[in-house]
Amino acid sequence: MTQSASAHHLFHPVNSDAWVTSLLTGIDHLSRQLRAVNGPSNGTAPEQAAKLVADVDLDAPLGDTSAALEEMSRLYLDDAVWFHDTGYAAHLNCPVVIPALVAELFVSSVNSSLDTYDQSIGGTFIERHLVDWTAARIGFPAGSTDRPGADGIFTSGGTQSNLQALHLARGRVESHGLERLRIFASADGHFSVQKAARLLGLGSDAVVCIPVDAQHRMQAPALADALAACVADDLVPMAVVATAGTTDFGAIDPLPEVADLCRAYATWFHVDAAYGGGLLASTRRRHLLDGIERADSVTVDYHKTWFQPVSASAIIVRDAETLSHVTWHADYLNPKDAAHPNQVDKSMQTTRRFDALKLWLTLRIMGPDRIGDYFDSVIDLAAQVHDAMTQCVDIEMAAAPTLSTLVFRHRPVGMDAGRVSEHNTRIRSALFADGRSMVASTKVNGEVWLKFTLLNPLARATDVLGIVDQIRSTGAEMLMGAAR
Ligand SMILES: *Cc1c(COP(=O)(O)O)cnc(C)c1O
Repeated sequence: MTQSASAHHLFHPVNSDAWVTSLLTGIDHLSRQLRAVNGPSNGTAPEQAAKLVADVDLDAPLGDTSAALEEMSRLYLDDAVWFHDTGYAAHLNCPVVIPALVAELFVSSVNSSLDTYDQSIGGTFIERHLVDWTAARIGFPAGSTDRPGADGIFTSGGTQSNLQALHLARGRVESHGLERLRIFASADGHFSVQKAARLLGLGSDAVVCIPVDAQHRMQAPALADALAACVADDLVPMAVVATAGTTDFGAIDPLPEVADLCRAYATWFHVDAAYGGGLLASTRRRHLLDGIERADSVTVDYHKTWFQPVSASAIIVRDAETLSHVTWHADYLNPKDAAHPNQVDKSMQTTRRFDALKLWLTLRIMGPDRIGDYFDSVIDLAAQVHDAMTQCVDIEMAAAPTLSTLVFRHRPVGMDAGRVSEHNTRIRSALFADGRSMVASTKVNGEVWLKFTLLNPLARATDVLGIVDQIRSTGAEMLMGAAR
């Protein structure tokens, strides 16, 4: 049988030759592609990328793995954005650890679905063990004979974890009427909180934004005032979302103070640790999360600071019984009197990937300290780069880093305040088009700033300062161009 014919077969023991040959063809193709990477991107414009893809006739298959991979390279890999490249410093994307890639092979090949025990068996308990382990790292109480203790479930990402957490919070107070419910989050909280409020049917004023201090942390006194005003207006505090690692500044809200206020108002305390959750594995900075153990629910994105491939996230709750707000029984799947444990009882999803296996093999091969050290090293890197950047007369820093992001802008001496935003927007576009490095941007008080998100443990200060040099020279050239 030729390789092209065998490659059509489904995964099956009888076709193991075809399977091995196809996968090896894929690995060979990927490793050749990876060796050719020399920058995070080539800055291809949307019109060009769209045309390459649109020209493919999906009704005319190539019938051959190698040919299809060559085509895929032209449409996708040649222009892909490579998060492992040391010139990449844009969004919260990580290079991935190898044990998790080994796991991916099993996740997809075996194709277990983690909704019911009769579709996964050991997988159900591997996921539960990881949830319990994460809960213990948070400091949640374990269950006992008379108390259920902590629990949780893997999700597709922080957005889904936050939605589920707020859904559970709503369940406790929804009898007061949805339009009266309020969620409190810092002005720098993640936009998925707003989205969740809308999806949960709350009113358009449901999310109350609490101002932040100079380090971009929620101001606890302002939260106290907002909670008091809420109750005085005969409205109902549904949840407070504290962020442990804001997306822009990596700021960690004052968790103990927020916990006290949540207790005083009997309000659900959710910690969005999508970014800062990696500190749960840190051997040097775990204390930054002090107070997280008082939360009702916590979002952890393993696909950010645990160096896992997308998707890998979890919502962990203090009290397993609160998960019953997403429980629904179907006779054909998870009847109420089921003899077996069914993860679907705790999940918003039904068919669900065994993403937990990636974290499992990572922990079993590398151990948690290595993951925590990786995160610590990029936090160290951010501090080091921050100190060097403060020496540049034409660079302005928005804040000192807490985690691994740096918000800054190029501001040549004498430049009009009114022109700085546009100048930095143009620098970012020029860098994207050039392809040697990639940075993000955000707005602070309505003005455009540039942002580094450092998540590559292999990047050195010289690599990141090289991007700074490129930003400064690009900015200086633009000024000279404008003056000519
Ligand atoms: C990334 C992020 C999210 C959303 O997580 P996804 O995995 O992208 O859905 C939520 N909150 C914070 C603070 C984040 O940084």
